Amino acid sequence: MDSSELRKKFLDFFEEKGHKIIPSASLLPENDPTVLFTTAGMHPLVAFLLGEKHPSGKRLTDAQKCIRTGDIDEVGDDTHLTFFEMLGNWSLGDYWKDEAIKWSFEFLTEELKIPLEKLAVSCFAGDEDAPKDEESAEIWEDLGIKKQRIAFLDKEDNWWGPAGETGPCGPDTEMFYWKLDTLAPETFNPEDKNWVEIWNDVFMQYLKDESGNYMGAKQKNVDTGMGMERTLAVLNGKNNVYETDVFLPIIKKIEELSGKEYSDYQKEFRIIADHIKASVFLASEQIMPSNVEHGYILRRLLRRAIRHGMILEMPNDFLSELIKTVVKIYGDAYPDIKESVDGVIFVVAQEAEKFEKTLETGLREFEKLDNVSGKDAFNLYQTYGFPIEMTEELAKEKGITVDLEEFKKELEQHQELSRTASVGMFKGGLADNSEETTKLHTVAHLMLAGLRKILGEHVVQKGSNITAERLRFDFAHTEKLNSEQVEDVENFVNGIIEKDLPVSCEEMTLEKARELNAMGVFESKYGEKVKVYTVGEGDKIVSREICGGPHVDRTGILGHFKIKKQESSSAGVRRIKATLE
Ligand code: ATP
Ligand code: MG
Repeated sequence: MDSSELRKKFLDFFEEKGHKIIPSASLLPENDPTVLFTTAGMHPLVAFLLGEKHPSGKRLTDAQKCIRTGDIDEVGDDTHLTFFEMLGNWSLGDYWKDEAIKWSFEFLTEELKIPLEKLAVSCFAGDEDAPKDEESAEIWEDLGIKKQRIAFLDKEDNWWGPAGETGPCGPDTEMFYWKLDTLAPETFNPEDKNWVEIWNDVFMQYLKDESGNYMGAKQKNVDTGMGMERTLAVLNGKNNVYETDVFLPIIKKIEELSGKEYSDYQKEFRIIADHIKASVFLASEQIMPSNVEHGYILRRLLRRAIRHGMILEMPNDFLSELIKTVVKIYGDAYPDIKESVDGVIFVVAQEAEKFEKTLETGLREFEKLDNVSGKDAFNLYQTYGFPIEMTEELAKEKGITVDLEEFKKELEQHQELSRTASVGMFKGGLADNSEETTKLHTVAHLMLAGLRKILGEHVVQKGSNITAERLRFDFAHTEKLNSEQVEDVENFVNGIIEKDLPVSCEEMTLEKARELNAMGVFESKYGEKVKVYTVGEGDKIVSREICGGPHVDRTGILGHFKIKKQESSSAGVRRIKATLE
């Protein structure tokens, strides 16, 4: 079975069970500044899992492209990829465990014809927050899974959510496949790596509240995710994701270009193949290599691929060839990447040219080191363009250490970029251009200035979302503001409103914006010239940000600013909701 067959089989199966097929969402999450990329099929559906009505109904299915930056270091093993596809089906307050598990089982054993002897499952063991998930285990048993093949595990393995500190969450049940040709052990030992996790059914039946209690959820949802590449591998009797039709052409191309054999350089081949594939998908969503956020991940992937390409003595421009191969594999399933191929090749070639100039000398510098101080790591980063993760990897290979703490300090000291805000500001940050949202947009700039004044310069914007009613603003900070700080920020903003300062806009180069200490995205994908909005004039400038606008002309018309709510958005990121009255 190949990838297009598997995708089709999955979607057809659930369509027949009353699900609407929805398209894959973007790899860039909309309205979620807390993570860089879509990491699972459920991610773009969070609002609907929280109760919003989905236009396609209560039963959905899709193949979703995902990027997991947390798995990058794992790449090279048999099962962890940076980019992968997740096949999923959802019940938004509709069917429950019975149907969900029955259909998972039916799909695995009847559609994919996986023998029962090859399967094992895990269920939630229960703890002080929620009871053991006997219900799921019983359904599996009724379907024919033996007791010894059902493991009960705790929260760390068999529990999902909530996504932030509060919200829907619940137990899950995971399905595993015995990947060896040998007879699978009768008893399922989840520690045994020959059992590969292929599918996960999550049952969102609880709501965690602000005081940490778990209550029964009003809307109970099912969310499932099957790893496309892993399933493809096991169906074809392969013990790793690289020997499938979504990788073999890339592996072959690397063999052809390098004149070396995959079996002799497995790790390098795998890293290059995975990283170029992920890069193609990222670059085709208009991400450009840079030193921050999404762009940094792209840069890190490309530079690591280039370094491993050097080990294989790949010819110059090998990435362009591999990009074409990736596009051949995915062009039909994801037409976007076919359309953007020329742009992607250009962007990647530019990045490669930049890095190839410094890589060799950088490696020579690295070779001189007995251990890597923060200053050394920073020098490798700044002068030779080594992403810190690359220095760490090199150090690991050589058996020496890197002083990460000191590196971070060096970076912060040297880096104007630490003041960058997120692309969230540009992308989807502004819901519409009504008078109300325009006002709130200006107030977001004032609030950022206030937060930095009261809390410190570490505060940078992590995202924003504006409706006509309110401003939602995420920023880097670890603690809740106390009432005095809230008041100080409010007074700061209201003070500027009272002064009725002018708001002006000027187009300039990034260079100039940086010189003027403007906040915002410096390595942006919005072209060389940027708009810079300034509040105040002369020596009374209170805010200066790179921003698409629009903004009000004077602060005097903004009204009265009030912070309505504070919450945690993710680790190290706080969220404020504020209004103008
Ligand atoms: P693992 O423990 O193996 O890392 P996970 O618990 O992180 O898996 P889930 O978050 O449950 O996985 O994701 C659902 C499915 O997506 C998994 O069952 C697996 O088949 C697939 N999957 C997860 N991470 C990856 C990855 N990095 N590469 C390829 N497939 C993956
Ligand atoms: Mg994982």
